[in-house]
Amino acid sequence: MNGDVVVIGGGVAGITIAYELARHGASVTVLERREGVAEECSSGNAGMVASTHAMPLASPGALREGLRYMWRPDSPFYLRPRAQMVPWLLRYGKASTPGRARAAGKLLTELTQMGLDWHRKVHADGLETGLRTRGHLDAYESQGSLEAGRAEIEQRHARGLPGELLNPEELLELEPSLSPSLAGGALYSDQAWLDPEIFIRSLAKAATALGVKIRNRVEVLDLERRGGRVVAARTTAGRISGDTFVIAAGVWSQTLARATGLYLPVEGGKGYHVEMPDSAASPQMPVYMADSRVVATPLPGRLRLSGTFELDGLDERVDPVRIRAITAAGVRVLPGLRGVEPTGLWRGLRPCAPDGLPLVGPIREVPNLLVATGHGIGGITTGPVTAQLIGEVIRGEQPSLPMELMRPDRFRSLVSWPRRERAVMGEAVAG
Ligand SMILES: Cc1cc2nc3c(=O)[nH]c(=O)nc-3n(C[C@H](O)[C@H](O)[C@H](O)COP(=O)(O)OP(=O)(O)OC[C@H]3O[C@@H](n4cnc5c(N)ncnc54)[C@H](O)[C@@H]3O)c2cc1C
Repeated sequence: MNGDVVVIGGGVAGITIAYELARHGASVTVLERREGVAEECSSGNAGMVASTHAMPLASPGALREGLRYMWRPDSPFYLRPRAQMVPWLLRYGKASTPGRARAAGKLLTELTQMGLDWHRKVHADGLETGLRTRGHLDAYESQGSLEAGRAEIEQRHARGLPGELLNPEELLELEPSLSPSLAGGALYSDQAWLDPEIFIRSLAKAATALGVKIRNRVEVLDLERRGGRVVAARTTAGRISGDTFVIAAGVWSQTLARATGLYLPVEGGKGYHVEMPDSAASPQMPVYMADSRVVATPLPGRLRLSGTFELDGLDERVDPVRIRAITAAGVRVLPGLRGVEPTGLWRGLRPCAPDGLPLVGPIREVPNLLVATGHGIGGITTGPVTAQLIGEVIRGEQPSLPMELMRPDRFRSLVSWPRRERAVMGEAVAG
């Protein structure tokens, strides 16, 4: 595969792919339907560049917890029962076995660590991504989260990675804005964060300088196929031809794939942020509130509280109960926020595959069509690794990681999938 590459979507996946391809001399056009880049899920997220908590969405524990949370209106997780969700949920159930969750967790651990390394390298090479590298804190309100944190730290130590469990006094000394009534916390000194909009706009600028054409206000309606290949994108700005096409359209990849006759089970995992002006109540580094799954991220001039995971398709309605739950968690853990007026509210749809793994690579039956989506809760961290892999595939190089578990066509048939998948998992676990 060579020649002109057309990338559909200007979020973290699309822009990092364009940048990585252009660095290797490819001719790339990005088609983005919005006014600018990073205007959907890639803008308002928590900005954590994190290799901690790299658990797949589908696991026996997550399944149990999800069912428990379903009935609480202010819980961090929600699923709106709908007939259209049934195929996704069946696949989610199949992926939630201990063996598959273990293999997925192993891959996510690798992807997130590679993502963290990529961000550090690009920043060290002088690209102004706004990366800050002071680390992350976990804040535990309950003994149960403290014990889960202890187990995570032990696993990290076994891999030679840092992690330090802190008692309440040590935690307060390190971060005085935290509540004195926490059960404890953890410091992960190797983690990083950034303002995602600054990061992607800066990368888009660097990509443009390398010759990438970013065409905004161009929506791809479907892909024209001829002789088993995609020959053009049919768009609101006319027909745009190319040699290789990459669908990196976040949760809308599913709609685009369907219009092209392909099946991609990507569901929207809605999340929110509430922003407050920067003040003495803001922590100096991101704080992950393990009991509520809310993250407080200090960004230039403001503090962002992000959280919740609502499996609700493409629905973008705002649920005030969950917004209140995010703010309440922030006030419990960072008591100086009490009474501070929010200055911003945002929601975004995480593109989620049923097994919690990205959908990355070529579509076998359409050799010049690749997919890069399904980054779920961690696309800012792992999107750049996807970009690296997509670049390697397009150039015909050996991928830096085995890509079998991320194959975008792995969900094609509910009947034949488990048999094929078991063989794949066997390889992955052994490897
Ligand atoms: C509350 C919240 C907190 C998060 N926190 C973190 C975090 O701390 N760290 C982390 O790593 N990740 C985090 N994430 C996840 C991360 O934001 C996503 O995984 C990532 O942004 C997905 O990027 P994307 O490029 O795949 O999708 P998007 O950012 O949604 O980009 C897709 C783009 O494609 C465009 N598009 C769609 N259809 C078409 C079409 N037909 N034609 C042209 N363009 C099209 C869209 O306009 C959009 O710009 C969080 C997400 C949420 C919601």
